[in-house]
Amino acid sequence: MSQPASQPPITNPVLLNPPARPSRPPEAPPTAAPKMVQATIDGKPVEAPAGSTILDACRAQGIDTPTLCFNETLEPVGVCRACVVEVEGARALLPACSRRIDDGMAVKTDSERVRLSRRVVLELLGSSVDMDLAGPVVPDGSIAAYAERYGADFTRFGPPAEPAEAGERDAHQAGHHHPAEGEPTAATVAQPVKIDNNLYIRDYAKCILCYKCVEACGEDAQNTFAIAVAGRGFDARISTEWNVGLPDSACVYCGNCIGVCPTGALMFTSEFEMRQAGTWDESAQAVTDTICPYCGVGCTLTLHAQDDRIVKVTSPSDSTVTEGNLCIKGRFGFEFVNNRPVVERREG
Ligand code: SF4
Ligand code: SF4
Repeated sequence: MSQPASQPPITNPVLLNPPARPSRPPEAPPTAAPKMVQATIDGKPVEAPAGSTILDACRAQGIDTPTLCFNETLEPVGVCRACVVEVEGARALLPACSRRIDDGMAVKTDSERVRLSRRVVLELLGSSVDMDLAGPVVPDGSIAAYAERYGADFTRFGPPAEPAEAGERDAHQAGHHHPAEGEPTAATVAQPVKIDNNLYIRDYAKCILCYKCVEACGEDAQNTFAIAVAGRGFDARISTEWNVGLPDSACVYCGNCIGVCPTGALMFTSEFEMRQAGTWDESAQAVTDTICPYCGVGCTLTLHAQDDRIVKVTSPSDSTVTEGNLCIKGRFGFEFVNNRPVVERREG
């Protein structure tokens, strides 16, 4: 095609004779065996790949280490401090999930300091947060089992304070503390459930501030950044920008935050309503893996069905396609199946 008369002819020699594309780089040599480091855990010599974490090394030794904010598919943020260990020569206890194991390191996972620290972490959480649903979904065990192991007493700070009114915690200003009045009570994050859309609810009375939802909404998966941590200290909370409702926020309803939430604070509306009605029954649910029909990516969907209706959709975190993440269609677009007329099965 000739150039329009109004445009000057191309004279740039680079554009007229573009350089040849660089050839593909030579193939990398076969990967060498990983360098190993030698350390001790609880007095026992161990060998671990260089670059692995103390938690990796503990798990390789079969040492059950409590974690609340850790998730294989997310960058460790080390905020819950449930996994802390004692390392010889280190002043403070170190988070096992994010600290790399070094040559010559001497790690203690069950010393008095470690047990005390884990106990207090569990007591602070257990006294202020509704952990009723945290047990079955914490990956390494149940909160109740860890509480028993470390002797955590959720009632030691007194009876729980009154729940906050709707929006009260969201309105707190960072750094503004008020002296407690009357008999001492245990501070609580109890507050009404946020219901502002028909796909999922946010029950921050169950939030342990593990940051997993923030990570999944941000750089680790979704890159939408609809939620973040607002406030400081005990007023810290998960919030949309300016605390607007989800429909007014940047949320695209992928539900990846629900997929990583370990406490049931984020929950499908279908599950929430069934739990409210007392009809949610995991033992009566069929769980089936299939491939999402919406596009060609081929995401693995795990359908949770009860009474011949899909009640929830997840994706396996070890799926190489999804790593547990989906989009709004795969996660929530199942109503058309539920709305199909039931076809009687013919025998024979
Ligand atoms: S549903 Fe997706 S976009 Fe919305 S807050 Fe959760 S992770 Fe972020
Ligand atoms: S809402 Fe769930 S995932 Fe998000 S910080 Fe709270 S407990 Fe963690």
